[in-house]
Amino acid sequence: MTTGLVYDEAFLLHRAPYEHPENPGRLSAIWRRLTEDRLADRCARVPAREATRDELTAVHTPALVDLVDATARHDFTQLDMDTYTSRDSARAARLAAGGLVDLVLQVVSGGLTNGFALLRPPGHHAESNRAMGFCLFNNVAVAAEAARRSGVRRVAIVDWDLHHGNGTQHTFEEDPDVLYFSTHQYPFYPGTGATHEFGKGAGRGRIVNVAWPAGMGDAEYLAAFDRVLAPIARAFEPELVLVSCGFDAAAGDPLGEMRVSPAGFGAMTQRLSALAGGRLVLALEGGYNPGAIAAAAAACTRVLLGEAPPPLDPGPPNAAAERVLREVVQTHRNFWPGL
Ligand SMILES: [Zn+2]
Repeated sequence: MTTGLVYDEAFLLHRAPYEHPENPGRLSAIWRRLTEDRLADRCARVPAREATRDELTAVHTPALVDLVDATARHDFTQLDMDTYTSRDSARAARLAAGGLVDLVLQVVSGGLTNGFALLRPPGHHAESNRAMGFCLFNNVAVAAEAARRSGVRRVAIVDWDLHHGNGTQHTFEEDPDVLYFSTHQYPFYPGTGATHEFGKGAGRGRIVNVAWPAGMGDAEYLAAFDRVLAPIARAFEPELVLVSCGFDAAAGDPLGEMRVSPAGFGAMTQRLSALAGGRLVLALEGGYNPGAIAAAAAACTRVLLGEAPPPLDPGPPNAAAERVLREVVQTHRNFWPGL
């Protein structure tokens, strides 16, 4: 068993000239923890390399790729209210997407068992034609397309970031061969992700949104995994599972109002390891409390390395979660008879 790990100091050069929650300190905190706990040593490093124009335009418009590339000529560009670039951001964004592609392809080919990509900038809010929500290129969507080009037929994308991955949903919402399952706070940024958004045309039923009110923790997240994701995934039979791995649903996050523990993230990772023959790749998205995201990343890495997660008995989900899960099951029962 070998776990691949992507990390590059070039990801730290993407930075705003003012205080911003999506800052290099996030990634440094995770890296320090994985190094101190000797977890990084146990993984095989996969070097980040710049994604090609061809790989990026499988998801993004050439105009967006040009726009991001052009930011390299300026010390600072504000792309929208939340989304900035520095001179090194375009290269970091290409390294993030390309590093994840290589990690995923090595897992697909069997050279690696599974993997974790510690990336910045994050990706799941990036639309085909627009950078937004701290995201420049949609790393996970680009990697999913690369995997499909290499012969993988069905990809499941699990997005446990606090926020809904609007860019990923829009990229694949008419595609029958990509399952997108997202748990997120709702209503919240970016405004998408209602339960009744379930995919379009041939992709009907392939978008599964668990739109939570604030205050959900391990019990609620694991119930969504066990009662909704597990039966759907059994029917969908993914050949690869990619995780939009934000840690902003962690207890103590300054942007979020959830309370998932490090053990909860470990337990979710273990649930996903049972799918797709264990071909599982986590890619960092959000998460803004350095201590919480470092602890969560360590817990996930231990599970990827084959350790059993610490025992966790969070009890039954709360009443608000039960209501949401009932609504999701009702919405999807027509598409997934096993629900
Ligand atoms: Zn987020």
